[in-house]
Formats: sequence, C-alpha cells, structure tokens
Amino acid sequence: MDYNATAPVHPGVLEAFLPFYRESFGNPSSIHMAGRRAKSAIEEAREKVARFLGCEPVEVVFTSSGTEADNMAVKGVASALGGRGKHIVTTRVEHPAVLNTMLHLEQNGYHITRLDVDREGMPDLGQFEECITGSTILISVMHANNETGTILPVREIGAIAARHGVVFHCDAVQAAGKIPIECREMNAGLLAISGHKMGAPQGIGALAVRLGVKLHPFIHGGSQERNRRAGTENVAGIVALGRACELAQASILSESSRIGALRDRLEQGVLDGIPDVRINGDREHRLPNTANISFAGCAADSLLANLDLEGIAVSSGAACSSGTQRVSHVLTAMGVEPALARGSLRFSLGRENSAGDVEHLLGVLPGIVERLRKRR
Ligand code: PLP
Repeated sequence: MDYNATAPVHPGVLEAFLPFYRESFGNPSSIHMAGRRAKSAIEEAREKVARFLGCEPVEVVFTSSGTEADNMAVKGVASALGGRGKHIVTTRVEHPAVLNTMLHLEQNGYHITRLDVDREGMPDLGQFEECITGSTILISVMHANNETGTILPVREIGAIAARHGVVFHCDAVQAAGKIPIECREMNAGLLAISGHKMGAPQGIGALAVRLGVKLHPFIHGGSQERNRRAGTENVAGIVALGRACELAQASILSESSRIGALRDRLEQGVLDGIPDVRINGDREHRLPNTANISFAGCAADSLLANLDLEGIAVSSGAACSSGTQRVSHVLTAMGVEPALARGSLRFSLGRENSAGDVEHLLGVLPGIVERLRKRR
C-alpha cells in the first residue's frame, strides 16, 4: 500500500523492454542496423508518451527521473528567461524535486513566491493573480500531491499563467497513470512524469516541453533528444515508459474506479473502527488511490513498523523524507498540528492491491493503534 513511493513493474511493460537488454541493445546514435532499431523503438515510445500526455511527439524529452524532469523545467526556464525577469511562483506543498530546485535558484538571485494552501491542501487562485509581476517568468505547481493525493486546480492555474504570458510547469509525477492528463487543456508549457510511479521501472522519466517554450539544457554533451538532454538514451527504460503510458491509457478509468472503491472502503473502515482519526486532503478533489490519515496519540514510525511486521507497506509522509523525524511540510502547510502530523500515515493503493489486502489492514490496524496509545 505504498504505490505513491513506487509501483511494481507491469508484466506487459517487462515483456516490452526486456528484449532491449538482450538482443536489441544498440546505441540509438549508431548508424548500423542495431542502432537504427533502437532509435525507432525510442521514436515509437515517444509517440505513445505524447498520446498519453496530450502533446506532440516532438515535445517529449526523456529524462532519468521525475526529479530530473522537474529540474530541467525549472532551471531550464530560469536560465533561458532569467534576463527578462527573475520571479517564480510555486506552492508550499511541492515535492522536494521542485522545492529544493527553487531553493537553489533563490540562492542564485531568483525571487521565489511560495503560496500557502488551505486545510485541504488547496492554493487560493486569487493569490496567483495577485503575485504575478512584470518579472514573473514561471509558475510551477504540482498536479496532485504525493502525500495527500489532493488534486490542485492546474487547469485554472494554467489559464492564469497563459493570460499573463507566464510559462506554467506542472509536476504531474503522481497524477500520471491515476487520473487523465491533458497538457494542452491545462496550458502546461512544461509537464513532468516519472516511469516508476506508473508501472515502468525506476530510472526513467519524461518532460513535455511544448513548442515555443524557451528552455536551456542543463546536461551538456552529445546531441541526443534534439540537443535538449545530452547522454546516451536509456532505450529499455524509454520503451518501458512508452508501454506503461499505453497500458495506463487503456485502463485508467476502470482502474481508478476499482482502486477508488478500495480506498473508500479503507477510509470508512478506519473511521468506523478507530477513534480519534482524521483524514487529510481534499475529500472531493483527490487521487482515487491515496488516503492520508492522522492517528492522534500515535507515532507514525511505530505504526509503520508494526504494519511492516504484518506484511503491510505504508509510508509516514513522503518516501523521500521517511526515516527522518521531520514533520511533513505538506501537512504543516495545511495547518495540521505537529503532534497530529507526527501520527500520520499515507496509504497509497495500486494495481496489485485487492479487497483482501484492505480487509487484512482493517483487521490488524485497530489493535496496533490501541496498543501504541496505551503505551503513551
Ligand atoms: N514529483 C512528485 C510529486 C513525486 O511524488 C516524486 C516522487 O515521489 C517526484 C517528483 C520525483 O520523481 P522521481 O522519483 O522519478 O525522481
């Protein structure tokens, strides 16, 4: 139940990319047959990713991860448009891939506005309008939050950016594969996704760079990816991402309603069986697979360890910050009291979860919470 951290590789994806580790191992820059075969596999994958994101194949740049795609977007715009202005707008609930990239730019002379969110994790659209100035060059907002699943109003934010002639970057790493994504409709000039959140392996991501968006590359070298991202391509990973996009597109509606029903059962079971719990995130605008729940009087790490002993994998906050004692920046921004935030778990469901898994969780969790509360 930790699919927002990473997901198992889909068997259909594995089947598609394994040949590229065996017989079809060419370097796509080579002129010979093996190279040409690898090159055409990349272009086929690019078309699938573009279809999935609602953009043109020429607009898709493959990267090593969602983090790299976010870095490429934010630093690339900052470098290309820094002469025109140095103001960037984002929110307080972004993933560290964006937050820490902003921090880096701030230390290098850029002015960053980090907008607050409300109790549900939603930013105020009016504040976007208000903070844009003549020197604003970029708005960067995530599509869905990795910790709470809250879906942010990216279409409206994209429209505001377009009205003011500002580039909009959308970190869609958690949304991709869970809800439909449409680059064009949300006016996203840049949009990042990551393979390992959606059935492809770790180590592959993509950035949609819409035609007309000025972006400087930040990895220099060969002319791969039309000079936008140097380095010999991860052919197997790219093929995997293409296939994962194709499979997700075919099943997104049925899977999201199946998984949404499991998540709803999980939440209702917790609310019915355990006192003093609180569900975090926007109940209406939320990824169907994610439940973030605070258990008053419990430490999340103890809950996590006890569930682990039962064979159930969950997360306390984001995977990247688990293991540290810091309170989640997302829950803090939402105004969740620190004591309650320290007792918050993220359950994130996916393709291989069944109703039996949810019942197993609901069978053991009340006892664990009761035991931990008695100890305090
Ligand atoms: N953005 C969001 C919203 C994420 O949840 C993650 C990963 O958890 C990333 C970016 C980074 O993606 P990757 O793990 O591919 O670097």
